[in-house]
Amino acid sequence: MIDSDILKLIEKQVKTFNIPWVTKDFHKHHNPFRVLVSCILSLRTKDKVTQEASLRLFKVAKNSFDLAKLKPKQIEKLIYPVGFYRKKAKNLHNLAIQLIKKYKGVVPNNETCLLEFKGVGRKTANLVLGLGYGIPSICVDTHVHRISNRLGWVETKTPQSTENNLKKIIPKNWWIKLNTLLVAFGQNICLPVRPLCSKCYVNKYCKKINVISNR
Ligand code: SF4
Repeated sequence: MIDSDILKLIEKQVKTFNIPWVTKDFHKHHNPFRVLVSCILSLRTKDKVTQEASLRLFKVAKNSFDLAKLKPKQIEKLIYPVGFYRKKAKNLHNLAIQLIKKYKGVVPNNETCLLEFKGVGRKTANLVLGLGYGIPSICVDTHVHRISNRLGWVETKTPQSTENNLKKIIPKNWWIKLNTLLVAFGQNICLPVRPLCSKCYVNKYCKKINVISNR
């Protein structure tokens, strides 16, 4: 089991950094629909672009009923320039229709149901469950996968096996916030290329697997 003190050090270090917009927005609105939609928009997209596109979309589509009324072309215009905006517009339109047909317009709080939507993978499903519904789950994105391997917490090749292994070693009360912490940590300290190890609060606990750092 990973010592909570190590996680607390990471938490302390990221306190002054920006947290991902999807998390920030949830703290303001407490709305799983917004988590689901903005997480879909965020895939392969910078945080600032996700934020602006989500806010444009949420102005006209506050829920799945509003979203279903929009044509994919209208959604495209609202969410441009997020990555794969054409595909995402189609997926979001279908998602809204499915939500209404199967779940009375409400985002399901169930992994199997969430994974049935086109454009929703484990990362998005786990974020909706954890952040949106407070159900313990670990959302593994590129930062969580990279940092967990560098630290030596896991030795994995895929996000799915990282998720499975982290569940065995991360205390459950840290599961939901782990993604927010490691995204902020990965964007500011444990950078993808040349991480800032000399400034890192968990330096002495890190195995630095495959790490090249001269700072
Ligand atoms: S010591 Fe370096 S590689 Fe390890 S977590 Fe810190 S920044 Fe990342």
